[in-house]
Amino acid sequence: MAGIYIHIPFCKQACNYCNFYFSTSLEHKNEVIGALLQEIEERKDFLSNEKIDTIYFGGGTPSILSADELEKIFDKLNTRFDINSGAEITLEANPDDLSKEKLRALKQTPINRFSIGIQSFIDADLKYMNRAHNSKEAIDCISRTQDTGFENISIDLIYGTPTLSTEDWVKNIEHAVDAQVPHISAYALTVEQNTKLDILIKKKLLAPVDEIKSSEQFLIMLDLLEAKHFEQYEISNFCKDEQYSRHNSSYWKGINYLGIGPSAHSFNGEYRSWNPSSNMKYVQGVVGGKDYQTMEILLPHDIINEQIMTGIRTKWGINLEILQQKYGKEIVEEIHFNLQENANKNWYIIENNILTLTREGKLFADRIASDLFFDSTEDGELFSL
Ligand code: SF4
Repeated sequence: MAGIYIHIPFCKQACNYCNFYFSTSLEHKNEVIGALLQEIEERKDFLSNEKIDTIYFGGGTPSILSADELEKIFDKLNTRFDINSGAEITLEANPDDLSKEKLRALKQTPINRFSIGIQSFIDADLKYMNRAHNSKEAIDCISRTQDTGFENISIDLIYGTPTLSTEDWVKNIEHAVDAQVPHISAYALTVEQNTKLDILIKKKLLAPVDEIKSSEQFLIMLDLLEAKHFEQYEISNFCKDEQYSRHNSSYWKGINYLGIGPSAHSFNGEYRSWNPSSNMKYVQGVVGGKDYQTMEILLPHDIINEQIMTGIRTKWGINLEILQQKYGKEIVEEIHFNLQENANKNWYIIENNILTLTREGKLFADRIASDLFFDSTEDGELFSL
């Protein structure tokens, strides 16, 4: 089983914090769709005839596309790939795109899951982020989506903004729980270099992010969602009744995926490749038959580090026994040795050879993972960093 990711690189307006690839001009939308169809046509072999279990439209804002435009993409996918009849097919959507009419039209397509970019139910917060919707649209669009017959809905939230008091963060979580969606993704606001947010903060036109408040809000969220029977299966992802995002879980489990569209990444166990983050370069590359992809052959340490980085964030953890079987006893001994630095901090547990993080450890996941990273010599011999 494998997955397909399709990047739709258009947005109505630019959110301050965003560092994904997108354009706010729709001028070249038809050319990009044409190139997407051609890329689907040409890249069938990347997944070596594996059956497709998940399709994910991300962006950008995929809900900018009409149902007809999405149908064209499905038609092409169906001619080139063997898609599982129970495949999870997700569309990322923004609240202001989900009108009744649009939802009814989308119900006629194979889409069976929505990931809605709510981010906050608080207007001041949405304004700080420069989102295109307001709090009323955030609330209304969820019930409209459910009323149209879509049950498998995830909503995205962001915490740690200076405009979000802890009381408001509690309200945001309560709204999300009351909306009766089975899946919530919640991310700490991070200020990526050269984003509009970064520039505005540096110019003192917007307040900076308070890391301590952000950590507090993370821990509050864990308690509130656990009390409402949401399982935290990845640091930023929570669901009810094991309704995990199958697509994202397959990334974390190292399953192969094909990425279509500008800036999309692909992975097939041996190498990773990615498309240019430019609509023009992408279209010229695909349509003009030029070599437009960048490719990286994965070395043993790349594969191990990826397993460490993703595994440590999930409830499935890092399986030390499997690492030992694949890469040898010394590798696992190195991991134990490098963990010692944090041994008295109650950040991790190892049970049945599975390493997972504790509640406190989840605040330091990136740092703990990087302490465990490996490099390799030209001969492929692994050594810890
Ligand atoms: S809608 Fe999503 S992709 Fe578009 S600018 Fe906002 S965060 Fe970025």
